[in-house]
Amino acid sequence: SDHRLNYPESPDMMNWPALYPAFVAPPVDIEADAAHNTNKSGDLLLKLTKQVEVADIGCGFGGLLVALGPRFPNTLFLGMEIRIKVADFVQDKIKALRTQNGEIGGYQNIACLRANAMKFLPNFFKKYQLSKIFFCFPDPHFKARKHKARIVSMTLNSEYAYVLRPGGIVYTITDVEDLHKWMVQHFDAHPSFEQVSEEEQDADECVQVMKVETEEGKKVERNEGDKFVACFRRLEDPPWT
Ligand code: SAM
Repeated sequence: SDHRLNYPESPDMMNWPALYPAFVAPPVDIEADAAHNTNKSGDLLLKLTKQVEVADIGCGFGGLLVALGPRFPNTLFLGMEIRIKVADFVQDKIKALRTQNGEIGGYQNIACLRANAMKFLPNFFKKYQLSKIFFCFPDPHFKARKHKARIVSMTLNSEYAYVLRPGGIVYTITDVEDLHKWMVQHFDAHPSFEQVSEEEQDADECVQVMKVETEEGKKVERNEGDKFVACFRRLEDPPWT
C-alpha cells in the first residue's frame, strides 16, 4: 500500500540528478549546496539543467520512453509505473541502453520511477511543468463498480491540468472502446481541456509512435485489435483563477 511508496514532499525535494545524471547542472558552491539542499535521505539536491517535461503514466515495460527518448534528445521523459518489478525492469533496461550507447550519450533523457500516479502527482511535478502526458492502454477496470479505479476521472483530470501547461497535450490510446468513450467524456467535460482535431492528431509524430511502440500497442497489433486514440489540449486558465 501507499506507505511503501516513496514520494517526495515536494518537487524540489526529489532527487532528479539520480535519474538524469547527464543533465546535472554544475554546482554553484558545493559546500553551500550541501548545507542547504539535502533531502531526508541526505542526498545532495543538485539541480538539473532542465525539468522533466513529459510523463508516461503507467509506462509498463517502457516501450514508449525508449522510442520517444532518442527522437527528442533534449527533452526529459519520466515513466511512472506502480508495479515494482516492472519499474525495476525498465530502470535496468535504461541503464543497459545508456551503457551500450556510452560516449554518444543516448537514452540519458529517459527514466522510470515506481510511483502511484493516481495519488502523488503534484508531489513530483510543479504547476505547469509538463508539456505532454501519455496514457497508453491504461487498465480498463471493466466493471461499473471498478470505474472509480480508472486513471481518468474528473478529480484526477484536475491534477493533470495542474501539472500540464496551457497548450500542453494529453495523449490517450486504448483498445477498449468503452474506456475510450469514458476518457473522451471526462476530458470533454473538464473546463481545462479541449479535444484535439483528428487532423492535428494524425499529424502528431507522438501519436504515430504511441500507436506502434508500446508493448500493449504491439500486442493489440498482433491480435489485429482496434486502437482508439484521443488527444486533449490544456486550455489557458480563465483570468480570475
Ligand atoms: N503503457 C504501457 C503500454 O502501453 O504498453 C502499459 C499498459 S498496462 C495495460 C497499464 C500499466 O499501468 C500497468 O503496467 C500498471 O501497472 C500501470 N498502472 C496502473 N495503475 C497505475 C498507477 N496508479 N500509477 C502508475 N502506474 C499504474
